[in-house]
Amino acid sequence: MSGFTEENNTELQNLGIVVREFSHAPTTARHFHLEAEDDNNAFMVGFPTIPDDSTGVAHILEHTALCGSKRYPVRDPFFMMLRRSLNTYMNAFTAPDMTAYPFATKNKKDFYNLLEVYLDATFFPLLDELDFLQEGWRYELKDSGAVPQILYQGVVFNEMKGAMSSPNSQLWQYLHSSLFPDTNYRFNSGGDPIEIPNLTYAQLKSFHQKHYSPANAVFLTYGDLPYEKHQEKFENLVLDEFNSAKEVAKIKFQASFDEPSQIDHFYYQSSLDGSSDFVLWAWVYGSVTDPIDVVEMNLVTDILIGHSGSPLQAYLESIKESKSPSELNGVDDSSRQLIFACGLEGVSANEKKIDTYENRIFEILRSLIENPPSRETLTATLDRLELDQSDLGAGNYPLGLQLFGRILPSTIYRDDPLNLFRLENIIGSLRSRLSDEIFFPNLIKKIFLNNKHWTRITMRASMDVNPERLIKEKLQSVTSSFSKLEKDKIKSESNLLEKRQNTKCNDNILPRLTLKDVPAGALLMEPSDLSEENIKAFDVLSNNIFRIKLAFPISNLNDQELKLLPIWCEFITQLGSETDGYRLVQQKRAAVGEFEVNCHFSSRADEGSNISGFITVSAKGLNRKIDEIVTVAATLIQTARFDENERLVDLLMQASNEYEHSVVQRGHYLAMLSSARHLNQSSGLEEMWSGCSFINDLKKIVYDDQKKMECDAVFEIFRSIKNKVLQSEPLIMSATDRQNLRNSVTTIKSFYRSLPSISSEILINEKSFEEPMSWVIESNVNFCAASYKAVLESDPDAAVYSVLGKYLQDEYLHSKIREKGGAYGSGASYSPSGESFKFFSYRDPRLSGTIQDFRESIKHFLGSKCNSKRLEESILGVIRNLDGSRRPVAEASRSFNCILNCKTDDSLKEFRENVLHTDFNRLKRVAENLVGQKPNISIISNKAHIEELRKNKFSFDKI
Ligand SMILES: [Zn+2]
Repeated sequence: MSGFTEENNTELQNLGIVVREFSHAPTTARHFHLEAEDDNNAFMVGFPTIPDDSTGVAHILEHTALCGSKRYPVRDPFFMMLRRSLNTYMNAFTAPDMTAYPFATKNKKDFYNLLEVYLDATFFPLLDELDFLQEGWRYELKDSGAVPQILYQGVVFNEMKGAMSSPNSQLWQYLHSSLFPDTNYRFNSGGDPIEIPNLTYAQLKSFHQKHYSPANAVFLTYGDLPYEKHQEKFENLVLDEFNSAKEVAKIKFQASFDEPSQIDHFYYQSSLDGSSDFVLWAWVYGSVTDPIDVVEMNLVTDILIGHSGSPLQAYLESIKESKSPSELNGVDDSSRQLIFACGLEGVSANEKKIDTYENRIFEILRSLIENPPSRETLTATLDRLELDQSDLGAGNYPLGLQLFGRILPSTIYRDDPLNLFRLENIIGSLRSRLSDEIFFPNLIKKIFLNNKHWTRITMRASMDVNPERLIKEKLQSVTSSFSKLEKDKIKSESNLLEKRQNTKCNDNILPRLTLKDVPAGALLMEPSDLSEENIKAFDVLSNNIFRIKLAFPISNLNDQELKLLPIWCEFITQLGSETDGYRLVQQKRAAVGEFEVNCHFSSRADEGSNISGFITVSAKGLNRKIDEIVTVAATLIQTARFDENERLVDLLMQASNEYEHSVVQRGHYLAMLSSARHLNQSSGLEEMWSGCSFINDLKKIVYDDQKKMECDAVFEIFRSIKNKVLQSEPLIMSATDRQNLRNSVTTIKSFYRSLPSISSEILINEKSFEEPMSWVIESNVNFCAASYKAVLESDPDAAVYSVLGKYLQDEYLHSKIREKGGAYGSGASYSPSGESFKFFSYRDPRLSGTIQDFRESIKHFLGSKCNSKRLEESILGVIRNLDGSRRPVAEASRSFNCILNCKTDDSLKEFRENVLHTDFNRLKRVAENLVGQKPNISIISNKAHIEELRKNKFSFDKI
């Protein structure tokens, strides 16, 4: 008999799910099942894990729990399962007050395989001390040089060093510690690199014991598999082993402040330019699990900073002494209480000026009490909130996991999770209150003016707080007195760890999928019979959302125009129109829907052909606004004006600042682009549009010698791009349910009747692509990349290179670069757009050693015998990426992109067949092609490594 009792069941028609809530006796474990007609079944188990310090114990536990368990005592079952499964998602994450382990898959056998491994890993992990050393932190003796040096090493240690390299991550941490000073949100749950080495192995084990018990656990499941079977598994594999257990105390609400606080911090920069400070204001209001608070907070936020025409956003963007409004602007719902934050980055934080900004912010808030936004403005905002709620996404993230994300906090805090599925009702009831004149003024008073729970944080750049130096000093003070005995212990632990890392474990214990379980590839979605020659109309379930995309082929752009094209795309939606200034345009457009312009190029069909590319105008909005959405999308480029010089200066500064800050998050990608940029035209174009030189080119535009901008010249280029784009006729995608689709096609036809242009040709002056370059940035970790020439996507060997990437990664790179080298990530992959094969490392403490490992991986492979299991896993890995989990809207979008890029069911099938039939000899043949080439190297690193870059003759530049 099952110990689970059903306590509630509710049908939610708009989401197409039934939510069933169960509790289990005697353990008090809880289970929420979201019953849906969807075969992409999902699972998540979550625990409240509130840290008592910043050692990152919850985060290190998340990593080590996945390193072997009672029934699966192998070294890293998580990565092993990742490779032998057709999962559509597999991960684990640590939030400030909870840890969760999610996965999703469309294959039933795979679901139960993964379920067994996840349950065993979370409730019965081995927590081997050596895994703690590998994943958490350890001392390592470095023998090079006269005196052996002791260093810190470890995956989480390096991961957090990388994460905390970003000034905004530090600011985010300060935001929480200053708003919730009496709660455990003041700690860094991921781990502060200086504190991580205070964590002991014993503390790790007891943290698990206390927090990962059934009484604390929440099981979430979604999909078409029966809940009874899930519960049978939970009981047999976990709950039967426990009688009862104590529930941990939940994190408390922070008592409201009597007075607002003011906090000053510093962050490290290796050189100062006088305008790299941050300032942030933030208010605490309500609860993240109260639907009324959530809607009210989002409504106010959208009115204040929703777009450049919003009063507070307009002010923040207009401040000349600041590079950009803060990246943290908006609602933060990552703790129990909601936060509204707004601020500036790239300022000189002089107290008097900050006071002026602050006074002006309060003036704006007060003015909204005197002159509240019009009813139309408030209605438009609620429409946007409705759009956000109804839109279940067009991406690959499984729907089940997306729904879990909405309710996880409520289930952890034991609030009613259904509330957050019913925000539409709250939005509806607010609509009826909009005519009440004091409705909005009262909100402003409640959240801001009558609320003392707010803070002002200043974070100044300083050369004195180098985290590397602080870590070194700590290391020095702890280890300088180490006896020979202690040093020997470090050595012997390192040896034991290395031995363990080199041991082949018996992976037959783990369940697996084989190539027999691989389904036939799904065919592309067919456009419906409502389509026209220039309109591909897709009839899809869309929960009341309409999407449109216009694709204009690119041709005849010159070098300068090509260089500025990404910026043209980004800015054209931010500028004014023939009749209105940019603020009014933003306001009008926001009432209609969301609009975006992008540029893309596709890989060449054969050696002789040119690269083709498109400008796309994409929009989405509610079905009841189809006519307006189509009108705006169709006229957006046509009506753009290029004469608002001040606006252009602001936008360029913001964009440059944003790109610069993004480097520490995507350094591996940038290093890969840079390493390949001279290989061929498409790699050159890729780098030109999104790589480091793009960032530098942009900077050159923003600041010329006299620190003045040539706005007129930029606008002249913009005008020329616009004229060239408008010479072509677009191919158009429209997607929504059938009835609305019909209307949309009629409206689109009133703008576009001609056949779409087919010719697209991007010609680049090949001489403009320089040799690969390394880059020096402000970061504590490195990103390394190497690239090699490979083949066109249409070549049968393209599939073989894809499989080789997985093989090298799993057979060699993961062990050398992550487990032993301490980098957070590494990999190798075939790039179809760049016709190349690339290696990368992510948040890596090493540099030349990693490059050596890239090279060695190929040699090692060529000298090895076939590992047939590994080959099968590598093939599964490529198939997994091909199949993904696409929602109907995403299927439509994929199908449209294939039409644009001349891909057909046949060509996709051919690639898939080539993947499935890859054998070891074919792998060897392509690997031989790589080993004969000189690798092209690019590294993103920091000042401390300049010597090493020089020694290895890597030319480098500063971003
Ligand atoms: Zn991690």
